[in-house]
Parts: sequence; structure tokens; C-alpha cells
Amino acid sequence: MEAKKGSRASWGWSSLLVGRDTLKLGIGWKLSSRVPNAEWEGRNVSSIISRNSWKLGELHNCLSSVEGEYKVKSGYQIAKKTLKSVEVARPSSSFVIPKGLWGAIWKLKVAKKVKHFIWRLCSNPLPSMVNLFKKRCLENASCPICNMEEETSEHLFLFCKWTEMVWFGSLFCARWNRFEVKRMEEWWSDLLIGVAKVDDWVASLFACTCWHIWKERCKAVFDNGVVDVSFVIQRSFSAAAEFWSVNGFDKCVKGNNGCSFKGWLPPSSGVLKVNCDAAFDESSGVAGIGVLVRDDKGRLVDGCCIRAKACSMNMAESLALKEALGICLKLHIDTCLIGSDCLNLVTVVNQMDVNWDWLCPGIMKEILLMCGQLCWPSILHIKRIGNKAADWVARSVVRRMCPMDWVLFPHPLWCLFCLLILRVQV
Ligand SMILES: [Zn+2]
Repeated sequence: MEAKKGSRASWGWSSLLVGRDTLKLGIGWKLSSRVPNAEWEGRNVSSIISRNSWKLGELHNCLSSVEGEYKVKSGYQIAKKTLKSVEVARPSSSFVIPKGLWGAIWKLKVAKKVKHFIWRLCSNPLPSMVNLFKKRCLENASCPICNMEEETSEHLFLFCKWTEMVWFGSLFCARWNRFEVKRMEEWWSDLLIGVAKVDDWVASLFACTCWHIWKERCKAVFDNGVVDVSFVIQRSFSAAAEFWSVNGFDKCVKGNNGCSFKGWLPPSSGVLKVNCDAAFDESSGVAGIGVLVRDDKGRLVDGCCIRAKACSMNMAESLALKEALGICLKLHIDTCLIGSDCLNLVTVVNQMDVNWDWLCPGIMKEILLMCGQLCWPSILHIKRIGNKAADWVARSVVRRMCPMDWVLFPHPLWCLFCLLILRVQV
């Protein structure tokens, strides 16, 4: 009963030691309170001992447990009575999981094991330290990696020091706000069906990142190793990209130069194509602007992403076109095609109408002035499928997921992403 836990104690032995205190409480025979007076009073201890052992027959009626055998049921009853109910701090919220979440998880474009893992993560049966502590399998619920906080799902996947580094070092450069993210299932609901809904690719990358964070954490815990942040970033990305590539989610359209592009048609030789797009978050008034300049082989020549304030979607689209023209002027591009998927804007610019939207006459005047400086380049309306790269950049800017210097110092994962998903060679 005094044995100590060694440094490499097995799971079974550790469990026995955790239960030792409870065992001590019920391991001996006790006088039953249900048998007062009985034959017990007035007797000497020597009368119930014979030849150095108890006279069990005499004691029989006075003991609380006459069998003298351990039963799970009796152990459970003692543990229930004596163990204090310890409530583990879990972020409380009145959040109710929307039914659509489960369907959205099963529609994730990731391997089945990853879908299943995200389902477990949202329904909270993962064996995190807090969950094991609640099931009384552990003595404390501290995070095994940082040892600074309890290992809730939220801590494990988003707020532990090393997982913060994973998210920040990833393509998204994301930092999660502890005050905004209350529960993992709420976070996933927002991402898949809620206010912060992301596209299929980003959702896949998020799912793979969570999966690889879990794998790395388990490896570190069970093999006494250390977590490798850059390995998790690389592996998550390549797992998502491989799955998309193998399953043909990036079906391509043949360009006229024999290159494959996802809906994007390259310009003819010697001409640059400038794609611009904007995303607008009405609640915050934030506009994301994405501009990409590519040559006839689809190689990225220049580009920009800008976060700006806007009053409407029209204003955001106008700002995007203005930035595209600004890049053309900066690069002294003589022959270029400028593409926007905003039909109204393209129409009014080609008609030289500055009074299109009363919110942005100043921007329209600047656009027309720049068009004049560039000797009226071709400004074309293109379908959204052909503007997907600029659209992705613009939306990433709004979510603060696109590094502002991505053109000059492209993140290695960004290059891979452009090549595999957007079919842009950075
Ligand atoms: Zn931690």
C-alpha cells in the first residue's frame, strides 16, 4: 500500500495507484452500525481470537460486509460517497450545437479519418487531459506540453503555446482570440456554417491542421518527445493538398498555351493579365482587395493585397480596380488585360460614367484618370471562376489570413498552395 509510482509506470499500475486512496477506505472489515449492542458488548477481544486468528463465525453478524470479498459495486459505492465531486472548469456557454454542423463535418473534403476526428472533437469525447480527469483516470488535468493550463480542447488545439505557433506560422498567420473562442464546437460551427464560413479548401486545411496537432501532441505525450511546430504546419498543408489533388477537386480547364488553369484563361504571348477582386465585410466595413498580375504562362509577375475601409461592395470593387490600374502604372505595362468579375463596374468604366454610385464618385474619377494615363487598357468582365485567385486573396485579407508581403516574400506553403490549388506559379 506504500508503493510509489515509477517514472515509466504502466497504464494499469498508474490506474491502481490513483484508486489506492479509495481502496484504503473500504479495504478492511468494519463493525456494522446496523448491529448495535448485539453480542459485541461486554466481550473481550481475546474471546474472538483463537490460535492467532479471528473466530470468523463469532464476528460474522457484527461486520458490515459479511462476504469479505471485493466487488466492483461496493467499490463504486464507496468511491461515490467519499470522492469529492471536482468540477473541472469548462468554458460555460449557452451555445447549442446547430444540427447543420454534423452534416457540414461529413461534407468536409478530407480523408474519412480526419472527418471522424473532427466529429469527435466537436462532440468532445477526445481523451484530452481534462476529459480523462473527469473520468477519474488522472490526478490532474494539466496540459502535458506546457503544464500551464488545463488541457481543454480549446487549449490543446488553439491556445497552447505551441499550437498558437502552428496557426501563426501556417498559411493563415492566424491568432485566435481567447475571449471570442469559447468552445471548440462553436468555433467549428462558425467556420463551417456560421458567420465566419470559410471555403472548402480552407475548411480542409483547418481540419487537417487540427488532426496533425492531435497526432503530434499524442506522439509527444506517449513517446516522451517534443512537439515539432514546423512539421505540423508542413504535414497539415501537404495532407490537405494531396487529398484535393488525388480526388480531382481542382479540376482544370485547358488554357490556350497547353497550360492547365482552374477557369483562368491566360492572355496571349507578351500580354499581361491583371485580375482584381474585392471582398467586403458589411458588419466591420472592412474591404479586402486582391490583385494578381500574371503572364501567358500563368506566372505571377506582381500583385498586392490591401485591407481598406469601405462603405459598400461597389466601393470595395472600385478600390480593387483602382489598385489594379495603379500596379499597371507602376510597372509601366503597355499591353495588358484587366479583369474584374463586377459586371456593373466594368460597364460604367467602359462607358466613362463617374456617377455610377453616389458613394464613390471620387474613386471613379481616379479610375478614369488612370485609364487615360494607360491609354485606355482593356477592362473586361470575367466570370468568378476565372477570378478565383484574386477572390481568394481578397477574402483572405478580410480574415487576416493573407500575409501583406506575400508577393515579395511568399510563404513556402503559399507557393505550394498557389501551384496546386490556384494554379499560379509564384
Ligand atoms: Zn499547453
